[in-house]
Amino acid sequence: RPRLVDDEEGGVLFHYSSSSAYSSGFGYGSIEKQRKRLPIYKYRDAILYLVETHSTTIIVGETGSGKTTQIPQYLKEAGWADGGRVIACTQPRRLAVQSVASRVAEEMGVKFGEEVGYTIRFEDITTEGITRIKFLTDGVLIREMMDDPLLTKYSVIMVDEAHERSISTDIILGLLKKIQQRRPDLHLIISSATIEAKSIAAFFETRRRRPGLEGEELGPKPVPAILSVEGRGFNVEINYVEEAVLDYLRAAVSTVLSILDQESIGDILVFLTGQDDIDATIQLLNEEAYDNGRKSSDLLVLPLYSGLSRAEQDLVFSPTPRGKRKVVMSTNIAETSLTLEGIVYVVDCGFSKQQFYDPISDIESLVVAPISKASARQRAGRAGRLQPGKCYRLYTEEYYTNEMSAVGIPEIQRSNLVSCVIQLKALGIDNILGFDWLASPSPEAMIRALEVLYSLGVLDDDAKLTSPIGFQVAEIPLDPMLSKMILASGQLGCSEEIVTIAAVLSIQSIWISVRGARKELDEAKLRFAAAEGDHVTFLNVYKAFLLSGKSSKWCHKNYVNYHAMKKVIEIREQLKRIMQRLGIGLKSCEWDMQVVRKAIIAGFFANACRLEAYSHDGKYKTVRSSKDVYIHPSSILFRVNPKWVVYHALVSTDRQYMRNVISIDPSWLVEAAPHFYISQAPDFKLAR
Ligand code: ADP
Ligand code: MG
Repeated sequence: RPRLVDDEEGGVLFHYSSSSAYSSGFGYGSIEKQRKRLPIYKYRDAILYLVETHSTTIIVGETGSGKTTQIPQYLKEAGWADGGRVIACTQPRRLAVQSVASRVAEEMGVKFGEEVGYTIRFEDITTEGITRIKFLTDGVLIREMMDDPLLTKYSVIMVDEAHERSISTDIILGLLKKIQQRRPDLHLIISSATIEAKSIAAFFETRRRRPGLEGEELGPKPVPAILSVEGRGFNVEINYVEEAVLDYLRAAVSTVLSILDQESIGDILVFLTGQDDIDATIQLLNEEAYDNGRKSSDLLVLPLYSGLSRAEQDLVFSPTPRGKRKVVMSTNIAETSLTLEGIVYVVDCGFSKQQFYDPISDIESLVVAPISKASARQRAGRAGRLQPGKCYRLYTEEYYTNEMSAVGIPEIQRSNLVSCVIQLKALGIDNILGFDWLASPSPEAMIRALEVLYSLGVLDDDAKLTSPIGFQVAEIPLDPMLSKMILASGQLGCSEEIVTIAAVLSIQSIWISVRGARKELDEAKLRFAAAEGDHVTFLNVYKAFLLSGKSSKWCHKNYVNYHAMKKVIEIREQLKRIMQRLGIGLKSCEWDMQVVRKAIIAGFFANACRLEAYSHDGKYKTVRSSKDVYIHPSSILFRVNPKWVVYHALVSTDRQYMRNVISIDPSWLVEAAPHFYISQAPDFKLAR
């Protein structure tokens, strides 16, 4: 029978109950048996009953209990996908979408992409009319609303990983609440690994009724049901460092080494912040393990971050070969989105990469920031799936107790809202401050976003989408600044070049980063270097890659990431199709790099910076808010320091660094955005 959560049961967050019934998850027995062993199986009938009788059902359950992979199958088995209807399950992360979809297809024994498929941006592995269970990112679901505002093809939408509070999850929950008023037949499941669910339940309880029809009941019960799936985690022993560590990469490596020395079995999961961190730590670990006299064949050290190829992903999930120790270095994707079997030890660096936005300076950057206690507990929990485990926290207990915040801040309250505003506008939601927010964004951030969209020509004086620019920008599934750049390239006659640049900027990096080979990488980059900056350098790499016959050997020789280049080609094709639909012809400017830079500025004028006069260390000031910024060492313009530049994005470590930078002529700024800048020699002032 279901255990319904009520108020005194605040403790569903963590059940460290021990259980001897759990034999093994290492792939023994038939898939059917494995499915029945999952904790959620006991709740199958209860879940189906609640979904049938409630508009909204909230399901809280420990990571690995089977929420994501099982619930969509239960729904399908119960007939929710009959009559051509589709069951949707959203995830905040692309990699999670791909991974769980392929797992579910495997469990159901169906061909991937037919009955079970997925859609993420630039990748649609579904078959119209055939796909019954569809995994997708929350962002893609918002996009789908632009064509089908009531999401009519779905019978049930499961918003998964709601505790993550991604910006798109927050938006989609607000939108789904609206849709439910018009479509009482649409059933929602909101699933979460933590009790964060409570605020979401409260949000859905205040369901509005149709105006003018006092007290009219719309469909099934408006009060959401909450079900807690009892977890099966084992006890996890928590260890802290005695003194704060300065270099968590080194600390992680030495912790892994001492686990390998002292404990004879069990895989190790290390939480780090991002690809660069992970690649560096893997290399360091392999070196040190070798120095310590370990055979490299004993160790299987694997990365886990978004952007991995399918083969690399599969390696992480496959059982550890006999006699080997698996060490997985992951971003916080393994915190709740994905479950790895066989993990007994967790090493938690205490940080993750987070977006932060300051509406006053209008600066948004990616920052390596401390995680919350809730995250730390989730990370620790990953060690206790199959047997009692251990978690090594690379921070002090005092820090955990006194300084770590209890929960994270929802992404919507720490992000630039430009994309969010344009999406809502495109869906006809004009009063954005009055939107039914799960957590309200700050009015300052909202005003900044409106301002930027106005100067991009996307919104008019009444803050309505302009026609055609506003609607076109909304149609392109990219950041509005990139979309505007593409539109401008159509007019400037350099769309062929700009679409390549947009594709490259949509992926993490086209370079291979190898620790200790920084010099070789820099030399390789110099072979393609363009005086104008990184964007034009990308064009050189792309052209050379095509000339090589898209050769992986060529990539290897030049420190270019082959998979990334293949992805670039794929994204480019898709963007070309969208441009065609919008009537933007493909035209090359034949290497006239001035027009290419003007097209970039048409989108990114707000990111202009000027080199400080007499600056010896390459300090720039942002034109908009006079903040200090520097060119990132990975940029081709690092140390070149042109007087005026426009950047693509900021990353923040000890300083604010500009990633992907291009040199410009300041007069182009005024030309591109007269509203935004007025020229006042020798300085610019903001038009406001
Ligand atoms: P939850 O969503 O509650 O965190 P999941 O449905 O993701 O749980 O996982 C249920 C089970 O399925 C776990 O035991 C997990 O190990 C297994 N599983 C999920 N994805 C894969 C995969 N790609 N390969 C192997 N096992 C998987
Ligand atoms: Mg899940």
